[in-house]
Amino acid sequence: MDVLVVGAGINGLCAAWALTRAGHRVRVFDAAPIPNTEGTSYDQHRLTRTPYGDQDGYVRMMAPGRVAWERLWADLGQRHVAVAGCLALSTAEGDWTDRSARSLDRLGVAYERIAPADLPARFPMLRTEDARFGLFDPEGGMLFADRVMDGLAAWLRARGVALNGGVAVASVEESGKAIRLGDGTRLTGDAVLVTGGVWAARLFPDLAPAYVPLRQVVAYVEPPAALAVAWRAAPVMLDLGGPRGMYLAPPAEGRGFKLGCGAYNRPCGLDEDAEPVPEDGPALLDFYRTRLARWEEFRVLGLRMCRYANAPDQRFILRAHGAAWVLTGCSGHGFKFGPLMGEKLAEAVEGRHDPVALSNWAAGD
Ligand SMILES: Cc1cc2nc3c(=O)[nH]c(=O)nc-3n(C[C@H](O)[C@H](O)[C@H](O)COP(=O)(O)OP(=O)(O)OC[C@H]3O[C@@H](n4cnc5c(N)ncnc54)[C@H](O)[C@@H]3O)c2cc1C
Repeated sequence: MDVLVVGAGINGLCAAWALTRAGHRVRVFDAAPIPNTEGTSYDQHRLTRTPYGDQDGYVRMMAPGRVAWERLWADLGQRHVAVAGCLALSTAEGDWTDRSARSLDRLGVAYERIAPADLPARFPMLRTEDARFGLFDPEGGMLFADRVMDGLAAWLRARGVALNGGVAVASVEESGKAIRLGDGTRLTGDAVLVTGGVWAARLFPDLAPAYVPLRQVVAYVEPPAALAVAWRAAPVMLDLGGPRGMYLAPPAEGRGFKLGCGAYNRPCGLDEDAEPVPEDGPALLDFYRTRLARWEEFRVLGLRMCRYANAPDQRFILRAHGAAWVLTGCSGHGFKFGPLMGEKLAEAVEGRHDPVALSNWAAGD
């Protein structure tokens, strides 16, 4: 088959990888250079973790997701992942961490439940007085996203895949077998895959009501010197209490120490200048005031902004349009499923999936 892939984020590059492995001809288009170093899929790290609140479907996806990563590591000849574990804290009955623990119990997935009395010795870098328990996922960790993206692009180029960076696609024809570029050029294939992230609704306007573009700023920080060693050995962390959506990647393997917070996201226009401003640093850090030991000694070193497509319940949106497939709505958790999604998209264009069943699977049903 001859497949046109629109969008070279993690999903587009992984789909191109899976299609190339399956022997198909692939041409990839991105309005930005490939890899898109300013894009949603490109940063020092992305978290990977098994707890998922009530969303059992995504917990079930984690095991095949990890197997798909192993296939990618084998092809790239390198593993761009640190399995440092993942910690979440429950501070109220029924909160996200509590519901995650129940979901893991329900599905028989192993994790460690850490009693509040044991938290201070295990995690001296945190203040945990208000915690009911800690949920430790030994399979969690961080994917080094920039290295994954660079590695994928190099692997594809080495196999002769046409990576057309700086080429915007203006439209996809109704048949789902042809695209028109910004300069009017028409290109045809057997199928089109649109992995356009937050911009997908520009090609399929009916998707616009299905998700909200969110601006998310993350801060790279320096921890207090007295806790630097403890932080280097720390797991990744998320849901550190309350509805604030705090998450962090510790400074492993020479990479930066990153803090983010879902409560600091805001809806944002696609053409709006949403670059970080200096006030973002202290505002973001402030969410961590009562959670980080020696909080007042943290320093913000840098800020980074990304837009992502946030769907209700953070579900993936995967739809067939003629011979085309479009994937978006990957929200703040889509990176970890990249290779698995890429393989499913490749199977989808080969006609190996019922569109409704595949769409429900992607939605975590
Ligand atoms: C701050 C932040 C933290 C996150 N943390 C995590 C995490 O810890 N764990 C996790 O798993 N996920 C995380 N995510 C989510 C994850 O990064 C995204 O779900 C994922 O990167 C989306 O990938 P994508 O390939 O679907 O889209 P994108 O990476 O957005 O790629 C889409 C590409 O399509 C191109 N494009 C769009 N329209 C066109 C067009 N018409 N013509 C040509 N090119 C086009 C764009 O230029 C872009 O390069 C986070 C996201 C953000 C922003």
